[in-house]
Amino acid sequence: AAAPTSNFLRAIIDNDAATGHYAGREDAHGKPLPAVVTRFPPEPNGYLHIGHAKSICLNFGLARDYAGRCHLRFDDTNPAKEDQEYVDTIIDSVRWLGFDWTQDGSEHLYYASDYFPLLYQMAEYLITAGHAYVDSQSAEDMAASRGSFSEPGRDSPFRNRPADESLDLFRRMKAGEFADGEHILRAKIDMASPNMNMRDPAIYRIRHAHHHRTGDAWCIYPMYDYTHPISDALENITHSLCTLEFQDHRPFYDWVLERLAEGGFLKRPLPHQYEFARLNLTYAITSKRKLLQLVEEKIVDGWDDPRMPTIVGIRRRGYTPESVQLFCERIGVAKADSWIDMSILEGALRDDLDPKAPRAAAVLNPLKLVIDNFPENDTVECSAPVHPHDPSRGVRTFPISKTLWIEEEDFMEVPSKGYFRLFPGNKVRLRYGYVVECTGCDKDENGKVIAVHCNYFADSKSGTEGSANYKVKGNIHWVSAAHALQAEIRLYDRLFSDPHPDAGGRDFKLALNPAAKTVINAYLEPGMASTLPDQRFQFERHGYFVADRVDSQPGKPVFNRIATLKDSWAK
Ligand code: ATP
Ligand code: MG
Ligand code: MG
Repeated sequence: AAAPTSNFLRAIIDNDAATGHYAGREDAHGKPLPAVVTRFPPEPNGYLHIGHAKSICLNFGLARDYAGRCHLRFDDTNPAKEDQEYVDTIIDSVRWLGFDWTQDGSEHLYYASDYFPLLYQMAEYLITAGHAYVDSQSAEDMAASRGSFSEPGRDSPFRNRPADESLDLFRRMKAGEFADGEHILRAKIDMASPNMNMRDPAIYRIRHAHHHRTGDAWCIYPMYDYTHPISDALENITHSLCTLEFQDHRPFYDWVLERLAEGGFLKRPLPHQYEFARLNLTYAITSKRKLLQLVEEKIVDGWDDPRMPTIVGIRRRGYTPESVQLFCERIGVAKADSWIDMSILEGALRDDLDPKAPRAAAVLNPLKLVIDNFPENDTVECSAPVHPHDPSRGVRTFPISKTLWIEEEDFMEVPSKGYFRLFPGNKVRLRYGYVVECTGCDKDENGKVIAVHCNYFADSKSGTEGSANYKVKGNIHWVSAAHALQAEIRLYDRLFSDPHPDAGGRDFKLALNPAAKTVINAYLEPGMASTLPDQRFQFERHGYFVADRVDSQPGKPVFNRIATLKDSWAK
């Protein structure tokens, strides 16, 4: 593989390596720790999408390139929206993308909920040390006293209550004595800070809710901004990468770590948070909430609908893990938000599959071609390379006979200028078969062409000496009608026809592309009957296709179009 392109994060890591900032560390068992430890921290409240893939490739990719390690950590501190179903699909998606969290036989798979007891102890310490207090204001009063960007906040009347009173209340919060929202634990920082996130942010709230892993053991839950830095430190993370919207949260991230390091709960050197631009992909949406809406309103056929930008959707569509990795490498990481064009994702798929995908013939829009001078009931075997640039992959064979299927577009009764395919009096090559000369066509009562007629030249077969005597401009694909495999093909295209479907809070449903899914019946070369689910092909002249992993049956594959051969959206 090519050397990874440098970026600002690599520069930071290189600098830390040069100064030895994270060198010589050991874990709790005295085992040496790598100088680069990253993590991918999803909340198990939905399916991963292409934006998450960027974060996964970035975190796992850096760990791989710097001989470090990357943890998969579930940020499961919000019981209301989380579920085991999501944990399972996230694990599956990260694995499918090609990444692994085992190192030297140890699995680096973590759950923030496993830290609940420690997070609680640390909160008690913060109270005792005067860094946190229980606030008993109503939610409305708390919101009102927070101030605004132009106006400092006001201290809560409970801010200076004695530490042992806060501690007692906090313990009773934990014991379940209070209802949701009655009290809250807050960090004691600065209600006049220009950074709203430093105005005594909440650390713990009461939530009488069942947690998918801890059950009913807790009725108070730590906030994300409190949990995240501690989880990072407990796991000896070095570079904690997150998206730009967390930039204003960084001072609190550092505040939490400093206070707990002072208290002897955490070891230095502490992890550091860095922010990078999130992925915004044109013709797609990457908001969990909006994706959920598409599923719930049955606008798509589920999370793994091949039109969805979810990882399960992209996978079912036929994208390879390598193509997604290539895409993430190509887009790089930057410190400013921008839009990435969908054509870059599609281009990565083409570049990945072109050298890999076996070729096959498929007629998507069939029209009958009759070779009038071909012996009735006769067949001749034709052969074609599995891959045109790699003879070592052998050949595929299929018969030619008197009646074939060709594409409707490959015949014109009256040719337009520059049209070299079938029209009366013109010769074309039936790819890997014979040269034929068109003699005319049959029409139905409405004047629609229903069959094309031609004669073939018996000495023109591809691969034989005589074929060199025939110079024709047109070269079309075909399948023998009596031998073809009939198969359902789903022609997928971009889900939205507008590059920014949800721009400016617009209703993204108005931007849906009605042509994003077209189901057709096609004719394929006969060998395709043995296709296994998830096998990918280039259907010559059409694009890249995959046997659908859910709906394909033995001997009866169903295909999804992953991408056309060329970008049909380029302006
Ligand atoms: P929410 O917070 O609404 O549940 P989320 O998209 O932030 O949704 P998380 O599960 O918290 O989802 O995300 C896990 C990681 O993926 C985070 O580190 C987050 O920064 C990163 N991530 C999420 N969306 C994108 C994106 N579009 N581009 C790059 N990284 C992303
Ligand atoms: Mg999040
Ligand atoms: Mg988010």
